[in-house]
Amino acid sequence: MTADFTGKTALVTGSTSGIGREVANQLAARGAHVILSGRDEARGEAAVQAIRATGGKADFVRADLTDTRSVTHLAERSVELGGRVDILVNNAGLYPFAPTAEVPLSQFDEVYAVNVRAPFFLVAALAPAMAERGSGAIVNVSTMVATNGMAQMAVYGSSKAALQLLTKSWAAEFAASGVRVNAVSPGPTRTEGTAALGDNLDGLATTTPLNRVGRPEEVAAAIVWLASDAASLVHGAVLPVDGGRLAV
Ligand code: NAP
Repeated sequence: MTADFTGKTALVTGSTSGIGREVANQLAARGAHVILSGRDEARGEAAVQAIRATGGKADFVRADLTDTRSVTHLAERSVELGGRVDILVNNAGLYPFAPTAEVPLSQFDEVYAVNVRAPFFLVAALAPAMAERGSGAIVNVSTMVATNGMAQMAVYGSSKAALQLLTKSWAAEFAASGVRVNAVSPGPTRTEGTAALGDNLDGLATTTPLNRVGRPEEVAAAIVWLASDAASLVHGAVLPVDGGRLAV
């Protein structure tokens, strides 16, 4: 049965591109009012127009998640536009790869600001109202690199490992109030962001039994399921969506 999100408002961060935009498309196609967000207004408005053109309900709120005031504004504006936020997908993420000794302080801070601090304060801003209403769903987007040490991915992998522990901490904190908090852990997926990796992305995919790069819609489908009532008993889970990397 296809999940129905009619009457629900969903905030999806990093939805001007890749996996996040596909999550926004799928939620809107199932009736949700989707708030898309990112720094790039032109890409955001194009994504909103594409959803509206198919009869869906969507708005764009510009936010730079490295800026805590922008994070606060995103949460407040989303509530204004939607009346409330029922679903939060913490998808925006940065994944620069570099040897540890070559990581500038500014890059370390930026990755942790977008991948860890912004999700933390969006949950702090939005989850209490979900808990008061007795329902809500939060899905965090991690990575298979959060559980497997990989060279050049120390900053990225550790930031997503933090997000995975936050997922479990928030499940422990909010489950009794009817708010479900889960995560997906995608493997290599073809998006605008990974285009620059070229053959390296395919090389990474050879480490999975499926032996191919994923499509954004395949990852989005798992996120949408976790956000839906069909996953009512699922709390604090990190769902691998990675072509079977866990199996080997
Ligand atoms: P992408 O194509 O690079 O898109 C990244 C999104 O994050 C964009 O919408 C971008 O929006 C937004 N973003 C980046 N910095 C931001 C900032 N400072 N403030 C606000 N928004 C910001 O990403 P993707 O490949 O779809 O990945 C999405 C998520 O999946 C990430 O968390 C990533 O770590 C995770 N993931 C991806 C893969 C993969 O192979 N693609 C694998 C595992 C996990 P603007 O450019 O408009 O700011």
